[in-house]
Amino acid sequence: MRHKIAKVDVHLVSYQVASGFADATRTVETVGYTVVRVTTDQGLEGLGITYHEVGGEATVALIRHNIAPRLMGRDPFETEALWQEFFGYLRGVGRKGLTFCALSAIDIALWDLKGKILDMPLYRLLGGNRTSVPVYSSGGWTSYSDEALVAEMVDMVGQGYRMIKFKVGVEGGHNPRRDRLRVQKVRDAVGPEIKLLLDANNCWDAATAAQFANSIRECDIFLFEEPVFADDIPGLARFRRATDIPLATGEHEYTKWGVRDLLLAEAADIVQADGARAGGYTEMLKIAALTQAWNVKFAPHAMENIHLHLVAATHNALFLERLKLFEPITELVFRDAPKPVDGMMTIPDLPGLGLVLNMDFIRENDEA
Ligand SMILES: [Mg+2]
Repeated sequence: MRHKIAKVDVHLVSYQVASGFADATRTVETVGYTVVRVTTDQGLEGLGITYHEVGGEATVALIRHNIAPRLMGRDPFETEALWQEFFGYLRGVGRKGLTFCALSAIDIALWDLKGKILDMPLYRLLGGNRTSVPVYSSGGWTSYSDEALVAEMVDMVGQGYRMIKFKVGVEGGHNPRRDRLRVQKVRDAVGPEIKLLLDANNCWDAATAAQFANSIRECDIFLFEEPVFADDIPGLARFRRATDIPLATGEHEYTKWGVRDLLLAEAADIVQADGARAGGYTEMLKIAALTQAWNVKFAPHAMENIHLHLVAATHNALFLERLKLFEPITELVFRDAPKPVDGMMTIPDLPGLGLVLNMDFIRENDEA
C-alpha cells in the first residue's frame, strides 16, 4: 500500500562557536542544524537536515508554514514532481539561499523515507556498490596562530587522515607572504605523502590568487578552493588558466543552473555543491551528472553523513569533507553517526541514510 505523508516536524539546534573563529572573509559565531522529520500514515519517518550560521529561524518558519502543509497526503516517492512544484511555488522568494536550504532539507527527508519504505540503504537505491568512501578533515582557520595551525594539521594526520584542508587568506587576505610560510610549515610538518587542500574562502581577485598559487607550487597542493570570490566566475576561469593547481568551487552555488554556469565558463576542476543547500538529493544527482558530462570531479561540500550515500554511488566523486567545526553538534544530534576510521567512512547497513536522531538532545535544545 502506498505511503502518504501525514506529519512534518521541524527542529532547530545550534551552538555558539568560541569567539574570534574566522576565515579570510568572515567570523563564525553560531552553527546550527535545521532538522526535518517527515512521517507517513504508516509510521515510517524520514529525516532531512540543512545547516546555517545565520537565519535558521527563517528556514524553520518557511518549512513549517509554507512547505509542510503542501506535503500532507502526498506520496514520498514523488521527489521529482514535488521538487518541481516547490521550485515553482517558491521561485519568487528565492532560487538560492535560505529558501533552498529549506527545500533541500525536505528533499533529503523524502529520499531517506524512500530508502526506509524499500528497506534499502540509499546508495543501493542510487545504483552504487561502494560501501566505504574516503574523507578528509577540514579546519585550520585563519584566526589560528601558525603554531596552532600546524598542531591541528599534525593532529588530523595522527587521527589517520591522509587528506587535510586548511584556510589561507590570513589578515583578511592582506598578507599572502605569511600564508606562503604557513603552507610551507604545514607541508614540512606532515611530510610529502599527505594530500594538502587549501581554502581561501572567496578572499582574492584572480591576479592575487594566481600569483599566490604559483608561489606555493613546490608544496604539492591537491586542490585550491574558492581562491576568488565565488560569484566572480570569469575571475575563477582566469585563475584556472593562470595556474596548474586544480581549482575547486561550488559550495556557494545552488541548483543545476548555478553549476552549469561554472562549467560553461570552465571555472572549476572540482565541483563542491552541497546537497543541504543546493536542492537536496534530487538536484545533486543532476549536478553530479553535469560534472560527468564535463569530465570534472565532484566533491560535495561538508555534511559528510548526508553526502555519504551520494558519494558512494557517484563514480567521479572524490571524497567527503568532514568539517571539524561541525563535529561537536553532529555528535549530539545523531546517535552513533558514522565516523572516519583511517580516513575512510563506512556506510551503515541500515535503510535510507542510515542515520538515527538523538531526539532527547534535540527536544531539550529545540529553538524552533
Ligand atoms: Mg570552503
